Amino acid sequence: MAAPRRAAQTPEPGPSTPAEPPALEIAVHNPATGEVVGSVGVDSAHTVADAVRELRRHQPAWEAIGAQGRKEWLLKLQDWILDNTDRLADVLQSETSKPRADALIDPSYAADLLGYYARRAEKFLADDHPSPHSPLARVKRLTTVYRPYPVVGVITPWNFPLAMPAMDVIPALAAGAAVLLKPSEVTPLSAVELARGWAEIGAPRVFTVITGAAETGAAVVNNVDFVQFTGSTATGRRIATACAARLIPYSLELGGKDPAIVLADADIDRAAYGIAFGGLFNAGQVCVSVERVYVEAPVYEEFVGKLTAHVRELRQGLDGRRFEHDLGALANAAQQAIVTRHVEEAIAKGAKALTGGQATGVGTFFEPTVLVDVDHTMTCMTEETFGPTLPVMKVADEAEAVALANDSEYGLSATVWTGDKARGERVARQLNAGAVNVNDVFSNIFNFALPMGGWGQSGIGTRLGGPEGLRKYCRKQALTVPML
Ligand code: ADP
Repeated sequence: MAAPRRAAQTPEPGPSTPAEPPALEIAVHNPATGEVVGSVGVDSAHTVADAVRELRRHQPAWEAIGAQGRKEWLLKLQDWILDNTDRLADVLQSETSKPRADALIDPSYAADLLGYYARRAEKFLADDHPSPHSPLARVKRLTTVYRPYPVVGVITPWNFPLAMPAMDVIPALAAGAAVLLKPSEVTPLSAVELARGWAEIGAPRVFTVITGAAETGAAVVNNVDFVQFTGSTATGRRIATACAARLIPYSLELGGKDPAIVLADADIDRAAYGIAFGGLFNAGQVCVSVERVYVEAPVYEEFVGKLTAHVRELRQGLDGRRFEHDLGALANAAQQAIVTRHVEEAIAKGAKALTGGQATGVGTFFEPTVLVDVDHTMTCMTEETFGPTLPVMKVADEAEAVALANDSEYGLSATVWTGDKARGERVARQLNAGAVNVNDVFSNIFNFALPMGGWGQSGIGTRLGGPEGLRKYCRKQALTVPML
């Protein structure tokens, strides 16, 4: 339990004690330096069950104060985040090595989302009065009521240590649920700060952070009433299976292999700059990163030249508060190994790195990389890389670009670059992806009114965003009351 922290139990020594006792603390590292920047406890299944029991005790009062009452607390948390932004960014940088400018995005995203849902929850959760389906049914007043799941479990990954938890915790709290958050064991410190903020404003005890790895996450799934998970497709599938066994609902935001299509009529400067940003922001560790690029033949050489020039200009390193770098290190050695494998496998099959191409530095850095001469037999074009790589493939025309973009088990998001907006929209509607941005990257994420979520292996369940992003944390109740 991160806030408040529980004392860890030391196992009794004896004949049955395993040679390697289970870790009771997880050390958190700055991946650029390897330095230990903090630690958190490993919460047991027992601790998780206790935490859920405690949340269940406090949730009815939280539901009863209504959306207006909850708004007060959510806006207080927003103030707290705005007042503590620099400290939050420091903590976040220490556990990720992100550049300062990127680290400031998480608190700002959380503050924005708090404002959005705090102010709209009352409207989004208002009773619906559906029209009766027949004259006979008119003798009853029909109402659909939205009642929250008592305890929502939120399990998050490491790429945005504050924004990812905020994305799910905020709408669940706004809906009237109590929330148990288990952040990634790689970057738990920012989530612990969020819980500290909730305690410091004196809010009701309906938000708890517990820490640990897969076993603690599994205990969350075994105790809560709804699971909201963001992370890898493999772990998502495990969680879905566990939820099915308990017959509890879940929503999964999973991996992606997001394509960018550059058509011959595009503004190539804009496309090259946008795709460099879309592929390399946060060292490519974004679920909606540009992961592969298809360029129409007539502009291929020009695009690749401009893209490579942009990528060569990027500054990689440990930024601190200097605003002097564009990329930090990858989250950990496991992530660095995946990126290295994808690049090496591609090169072994005939691909060429026009810039970058290898791991670098003392920490887990990987050079920003542009790969050409790639095809769909290579893992860099089919598996999620989650690193600073941009594999680029030449295509004959729009139809081939669409076919290749759709040749994936994933369907998270995509981008289309064209000088003709109507054409961009037409192509977008042919792509199998939960979001398509024309001539831009990430726009859908910062427009909270839109549904955000993937198709296919990229996710399942009701999406973040808009009224549904709040109502998904509620059970619907049908009420009939006589008119006479
Ligand atoms: P990554 O984000 O590194 O790709 P995962 O998708 O496995 O890794 O992890 C995302 C989150 O899911 C983390 O908080 C992790 O601790 C948690 N987790 C991992 N395995 C399980 C599991 N079996 N049940 C519940 N949570 C899990």
